[in-house]
Amino acid sequence: MIASAPLTSDNPTDYLKRYYGYDRFRPMQEDIIRSVLSGRDTVVLMPTGGGKSVCFQIPAIMKPGVCVVVSPLIALMKDQVEALHLNGISAAYLNSTQSSKEQRQIEADALAGKIKLLYVSPEKLLSESMFIFLQQLQLSLFAIDEAHCISSWGHDFRPEYTQLNVLKKHFPHVTTVALTATADKLTRQDIAQRLDMNDPAVFIASFNRPNLSLQVLPGTNRFQQIVRLLNMKPDTSGVIYCLSRKSTESLATKLQEKGFMAGFYHAGMSGQERSMVQEMFLKDDIRIMCATIAFGMGIDKSNVRWVIHYNMPKNIESFYQEIGRAGRDGLNSDTVLFYSFADVATYKEMLTENNPANLGLQLAKLERMQQYADAHTCRRQILLSYFSEELTEPCGNCDVCRNPRVTFDGTIIAQKALSAILRLKERVPMNLLIDVLRGSRSQQVLMNGYDQIKTYGAGADLKFDEWRNYLQQLINVGVIEIAYDQHYALKKGILGDGVLFQGKKVELVRPDDAPKVVVEKPKTK
Ligand code: ADP
Ligand code: ZN
Repeated sequence: MIASAPLTSDNPTDYLKRYYGYDRFRPMQEDIIRSVLSGRDTVVLMPTGGGKSVCFQIPAIMKPGVCVVVSPLIALMKDQVEALHLNGISAAYLNSTQSSKEQRQIEADALAGKIKLLYVSPEKLLSESMFIFLQQLQLSLFAIDEAHCISSWGHDFRPEYTQLNVLKKHFPHVTTVALTATADKLTRQDIAQRLDMNDPAVFIASFNRPNLSLQVLPGTNRFQQIVRLLNMKPDTSGVIYCLSRKSTESLATKLQEKGFMAGFYHAGMSGQERSMVQEMFLKDDIRIMCATIAFGMGIDKSNVRWVIHYNMPKNIESFYQEIGRAGRDGLNSDTVLFYSFADVATYKEMLTENNPANLGLQLAKLERMQQYADAHTCRRQILLSYFSEELTEPCGNCDVCRNPRVTFDGTIIAQKALSAILRLKERVPMNLLIDVLRGSRSQQVLMNGYDQIKTYGAGADLKFDEWRNYLQQLINVGVIEIAYDQHYALKKGILGDGVLFQGKKVELVRPDDAPKVVVEKPKTK
């Protein structure tokens, strides 16, 4: 039935209608598509569910030749290709799970011009035989999915991704589009650089998901708290993310004993078991999925009404991606993070034991996550400022906004800190900055001549711990930022100029006025 004639239009919207059945593009999609069609290398940052796929698929359909899609998740390739087939688009994948006969057939189809999109894993792409094959193809485009994997600043670094720069070397005239749902500033820069992109156009869609409520609860009596939360949301679907495989199973069992339709999912299960529970979840036969982070990638369930983190994630990128699985239909959905110091300690232990090359970075990312949980300013502002996006007003849809802390005008404190940071040329980390502000006569201060700068001692009225606390608050709201690539030096953040030069006020919370975590007030009628 799909045998209708191919479109000849040069209007991307016609393709959106014909192949996807949608009437109009979401913000940015069309600009991105036009950028790619014009032959410019393009970087796309769009949250999960934002609609990245059409940004390379429509150009792939419109341009002559084959679009090679690099995707790290072999398990998802099949689903993606099947979804394309359902839309009447010719696509295939090549990976190590196929027999060589299957692979040869696909290669023959591609050479015969029967395939518009060819999905490959990075390992496969980098093999020599693959290169010989690619050289015979007419290539329309390279699409690098999950492009943050290329950066060691990212949260999901995959070394094989770093070799993708060979694509530009061998195919300098093929346009490259890189797509990701999570990337902080350094990761973004890294993506363009490591792919050897040529003056790329960068599109950053808003990461704001106002329909997701944000709440942090103390990590005590978690089970009772979960039962209470679930009872408030009967007949809704949601995910409870746990740290260990074992705890997904035990939590699911305990919930079943209480009469909930709960299941579990983790990477230790067989592929068959996993696809079975996943299917049940999609069909609402399981309402509550107790899962490790293995669950969720590529699962397109629009009516997930809540996401609970039984344990704190390791970094803000992961947290954001995981809560982003809720409310994809745009309806109000709730997210709850249980936070305890024990979890942080467990991570630190695990990290230090594994001793990865980027241990310092991972610990710093963990600390940012902890600061989010500890924060007493609008949590959404913290999340967005992490992705260098400014939310001008507190969101009104997080627990802090609903239970505001007592604040005071901390503008002078912010200005002192910023001024010292600039005079120190944005080169010193937090503790040293505090020493300078407090007029310490430590070796490090004196040896570097920091006692000579104008703001030396300007913050002597505050204790060391108070400064630490305020600086963390200033980082959280984007007045200051941490340069992970420069030994964690503190730098002026996106709001820094506003505070220094444009009279922007900063509200701070005194450390004593900040409860560690605030439990939601029960709603009174
Ligand atoms: P991402 O890859 O960014 O997570 P997808 O490309 O999978 O997101 O798109 C998420 C959902 O949004 C899909 O169901 C997709 O069909 C839908 N979608 C994409 N573009 C549009 C559009 N212009 N109008 C309506 N729905 C869209
Ligand atoms: Zn808020």
